[in-house]
Amino acid sequence: MARIVQKYGGTSVGDTDRIKHVAARIKAARDAGNQLVVVVSARAGVTNQLIARAKAVCDQPSEREMDQLLAVGEQETIALTAMALHGLGVAAASYTGAQAGILTDQVHTKAKITTINPQPIEKDLAAGKVVIVAGFQGIDREGQVTTLGRGGSDLTAIALAAALQAVKCEIYTDVDGVYTADPRVVPSARMLPEISYDEMLELASSGSKVMQSRSVEFAKKYGVVFEVRSSFNENPGTLVKAEVAYMEKVVVRGVAVDKDQAKVVVSNIVDRPGSAAKVFRALADAGIIVDMIVQNVGRQGVANLTFTVPLGDKASAVRTLRPVLDEVGGQVEVHKPIAKLSVVGVGMKTHSGVAATLFQALAETGINIQLISTSEIKISVVIDLDRADEAARVAHEAFGLGAAGAGK
Ligand code: ADP
Ligand code: ASP
Ligand code: MG
Repeated sequence: MARIVQKYGGTSVGDTDRIKHVAARIKAARDAGNQLVVVVSARAGVTNQLIARAKAVCDQPSEREMDQLLAVGEQETIALTAMALHGLGVAAASYTGAQAGILTDQVHTKAKITTINPQPIEKDLAAGKVVIVAGFQGIDREGQVTTLGRGGSDLTAIALAAALQAVKCEIYTDVDGVYTADPRVVPSARMLPEISYDEMLELASSGSKVMQSRSVEFAKKYGVVFEVRSSFNENPGTLVKAEVAYMEKVVVRGVAVDKDQAKVVVSNIVDRPGSAAKVFRALADAGIIVDMIVQNVGRQGVANLTFTVPLGDKASAVRTLRPVLDEVGGQVEVHKPIAKLSVVGVGMKTHSGVAATLFQALAETGINIQLISTSEIKISVVIDLDRADEAARVAHEAFGLGAAGAGK
């Protein structure tokens, strides 16, 4: 009997008909002789609605209470999925994260999984039940409910597949797999039959929300091979694993856009050792993750620092910097809305000209580049938010990633 972990995302369990459809798929996999652990997300939109309600009653809700609230979304869908399976005559039991033995650290709203105690799930599997687990949540050592960051049901599924030594981990979503770009933005995007952990990780951390980036990191660390595929058809999806065929032949594997970033400019700070350290130490102590950083040194002993932070941390970044700037001088400003466009591919390690091709394509479309950063397998640029989708299409085309091409 093969043990499989399946995960169904928010759209796949978006209403009661879809939950019944998912239950029928689970039954078919169980009837084929498999042992099943199924992770479900909250219905699409529910987590956002809960966040909006929290903000409606309090400007800065406590993170502990936020986790109490957000865990509710998944608790609804686990129970409904188990009930739908009962309706089909399938023995099933639903588990919250805590009941499933998912232990985390104490960092509310972005907790990390520390251990999983597989015993409760093993017991029900041995009794022949399908086990349905709430994604995105766990419990800390003091018994407090925690959540794993947005998109965290992917992490629940991958961590369970590792802990339960499943032979397969299937991530069911509302597209057929991982594409060369978001297929809703770039119509010519092509589905990839397979992709390496490193490329998937860069795409995910650059804004491709098809997989939560922390879940890909976890899969890479523990060698969990997983498949991203559609819950609406039977088509094979994208296999995500360590090595993929033709890895060196394709220079750019995909394009990602991140619209959840803000650009902050700190101008006219004193140009001497320690100024940048003070600015970024303050941001780090406030738990703000800084991404791209550029410094230019001006005349008269002053420097400007430009960097990006997650959109949700924009106000807190400005608040944090005010007292620091009283010390090192300078002003802080948040610029008009931006997006980060990234092109990703392991082949970049050994090919030249990727940056030139990208910059040329954007120039020909009249899209101005504000910031640039590179890593071994990624080039990112900051551009105006309102040109982001167009830029994604232009970059996709420039690297021949469309349906007709095979990448260059
Ligand atoms: P789920 O609710 O199943 O977790 P998400 O909404 O989190 O689904 O992720 C799926 C969405 O990710 C797709 O609907 C698609 O618009 C978006 N997406 C962004 N980039 C990509 C990509 N490169 N390949 C596939 N989908 C992508
Ligand atoms: N419901 C959570 C979210 O919307 C977790 C998930 O869907 O993976 O972020
Ligand atoms: Mg998701």
